Amino acid sequence: SAKQNGKNNYQLFTRELDSLMTRRNHLEQALKKALDEQQFALHYQPQINLASGQVIGYEALLRWQSPLGNVPPSEFIPVAEETGLIVPIGEWVLRQACRDTKRFHALGKASANISVNVSARQFKDPDFSQKVRAIFEEEHVDPRHFEIEITESVMLDIEHSARVICELKELGLRIAIDDFGAGYSSLNIIKNIEIDTLKIDKSLMDEVLINRRNLFILAAIIEVGKNLNARIVVEGIELEEQAELLKPFGVVGQGYLFSRPLPPGSIDAFLSEAPQKVSEKGQ
Ligand code: C2E
Ligand code: MG
Ligand code: MG
Ligand code: MG
Repeated sequence: SAKQNGKNNYQLFTRELDSLMTRRNHLEQALKKALDEQQFALHYQPQINLASGQVIGYEALLRWQSPLGNVPPSEFIPVAEETGLIVPIGEWVLRQACRDTKRFHALGKASANISVNVSARQFKDPDFSQKVRAIFEEEHVDPRHFEIEITESVMLDIEHSARVICELKELGLRIAIDDFGAGYSSLNIIKNIEIDTLKIDKSLMDEVLINRRNLFILAAIIEVGKNLNARIVVEGIELEEQAELLKPFGVVGQGYLFSRPLPPGSIDAFLSEAPQKVSEKGQ
């Protein structure tokens, strides 16, 4: 009967939920261990001024090299956010980025700009900006080398977020809006927050190649960003054709066409071999 069916579905559902919860608990425990046992690393993806070919900075991207294999951020970041573990993990990320940056600077790249992703959840920590300040002081790194990437999820608590952003800016950090154009409140966020960089989501760039009408939209977004005095970074450039299309717009590009995110050691080589210029594509 339908009733019986419903009951079976319910049992199936709770069983699935059970295994989902088990999986989540398991991931949570594994993430705690990962922090203690240094299983995290940061990889760096270059950002290139398309017109000049110069590397203007690097985005730090978290990698989890677990004993069972690499786990992608799309899988563990959401769990880290839900469990609050993103708070200590985020602190580790900032400190590690400072340490890596000192090495890059020692190689003569004093101007390299480093972007670090920060979740809205980290903003909820009442001590967040204090902790950020402490990390930069302890590591003797100037915050003006750093940019914080946030997404429109900070809009959920805009009053609080705006205050945190002000505190971060007072420290000398710059603010980038990540994944711009991917969500629904993109325009809302730039109305409310004084940003330094606008990162245009990969999906917009992909759409441009499918339908050139989208180029007008992309051009308009770039125009808005420039009028707001923001630097524009276009994410996810994979094809030469995309880079060529964007060249006249005076924007910065990031994507596999130029390089995949690289471990710091490879960035060292990248920097000393090709000072400022990207001469070869990443593998
Ligand atoms: P995101 O900040 O938008 O980072 C860009 C993502 O696009 C990265 O994925 C990068 O590897 C990937 N990507 C770059 N160029 C290309 C390309 O040409 N084609 C394609 N298909 N992908 C490209 P990744 O490293 O897997 O990170 C995914 C997301 O996880 C990030 O998106 C960010 O939201 C989050 N994340 C990564 N590291 C951190 C971190 O340290 N803290 C926090 N809170 N979130 C992080
Ligand atoms: Mg990002
Ligand atoms: Mg992004
Ligand atoms: Mg993203």
